[in-house]
Order: sequence, then structure tokens, then C-alpha cells
Amino acid sequence: MLIVFLGAPGAGKGTQAKTLAGKKNLTHLATGDLLRAEVAAGTELGLAAKAFMDRGDLVPDDVMIGMIQGRLASPGSDGLLLDGFPRTLAQAQALDEALASAGASVDQSIYFKVSEEELVRRLAGRSTCPDCQRAYHDTFNPPHRADECDDCGTSLIRREDDKADAVRNRLKVYGTQTTPVLDHYRTAGKLVEVDGEQAIDAVQEDLAVAVG
Ligand code: AMP
Repeated sequence: MLIVFLGAPGAGKGTQAKTLAGKKNLTHLATGDLLRAEVAAGTELGLAAKAFMDRGDLVPDDVMIGMIQGRLASPGSDGLLLDGFPRTLAQAQALDEALASAGASVDQSIYFKVSEEELVRRLAGRSTCPDCQRAYHDTFNPPHRADECDDCGTSLIRREDDKADAVRNRLKVYGTQTTPVLDHYRTAGKLVEVDGEQAIDAVQEDLAVAVG
């Protein structure tokens, strides 16, 4: 099974992906998490990607496609959940081609629909665990102990790209570069829309119905 999660930054993809991947025994592949790990490890790829990420721009397609291709070959579980990829039409086409050459295809894409006003509200209050990448919100989803990850106890951080200027740019980039990806899957009859403005549990229930 291969599922793609689509939606703007702050739409809740990462939060829902962790739960669904656990339930369905899917390998959760979050390209943002993979990139942040490269940055933290100070690799060449990480150093090249960091400036794009901090500004809220997309990392170039060839880097992202190369990063994902090797990982498609070995799902190592009941399937894959792609979170944050594809983010451009070129990435979606490269994904289709890579899967087709292995006799596979995307089974379903889920679009988490959230208004821009709500996205800004969420990203402004967001903190993240730099270790396990779990996301929290000051008001809607606070950790049990202030500034500490519930899962691993690591001190939470505010991501550089969750600051106001980068957030504005990320939403603009999403509108211009990622929106066409929705049409790509809609045309293929593989797009299911979920109301991402609901509470986390309610989104989770809708998702369970959508994925089956
Ligand atoms: P995310 O954690 O998914 O919000 O991703 C954080 C940042 O990583 C994005 O703002 C981009 O700079 C970069 N990134 C993640 N996934 C991709 C992708 N598929 N294509 C290009 N850049 C990406």
C-alpha cells in the first residue's frame, strides 16, 4: 500500500501520519524530517538544503527525487506513507515513473484541507521535538510538561521556518508549486479530501474511513 499525504504546512500531516503509520504498519517517510536529520548531522546535503529550508523555499527537485528514489525500493513493512513528498508536479511525475518501473503506483492521496487563517494560527504557536519530530501547539495541543516532548522528554524547539517571514513564504510556495499536485491526483481519481480543521481525534476518525 502506498499513501501520499498532501496539504499545506500546518495542516496536520505529520501528526496524523505518525498515528496512521503505527496502526497500519506503514513506513512513515517524511521528507522534512529526513532533511532536518541531514542538517543536524552536518552532511553535504544538509548544508545545501538548510538555506532553502530556513527561508521556507523548496529544496530543488533533483535533490528530493534522488533522496526518495532509494527509499522506495525497500518499504520494509506493509507499505509506505509519504508525508511532504511530492511537493511539485515534477516530483509527482518522477514518483509515478519510479513506481511504474517497479510495477506499482500510488494507491491513494489524502488532502488535508485547512484555511490559510487557521494555518497561520497553528504555525505561529507550533513547537517541535528536534529528536522524534512530534509537533505541539501552545494552545490546541500542548505537551504535558512545559517545553518537553511527551514521548521522549527532549526539550522542544521553535523551527526556524515556523517564524513569521518563513511561514508567509511557505504558504506562498505551497500555493504556487504544490497546489498543482492536488490536481494531478484528483485527475487520476486518487484524491480524497479530509477536513483538517477539526480536532486531531476527529481528523483521525475521518482518515480511518478514507483509508479503510
Ligand atoms: P516540512 O517538515 O514537510 O514542513 O518540510 C520542511 C522543509 O523541508 C520545507 O519547507 C522544504 O524546504 C523542505 N522540503 C521537505 N519536503 C520537500 C519536498 N518534497 N520538496 C522540496 N522541499 C522539501
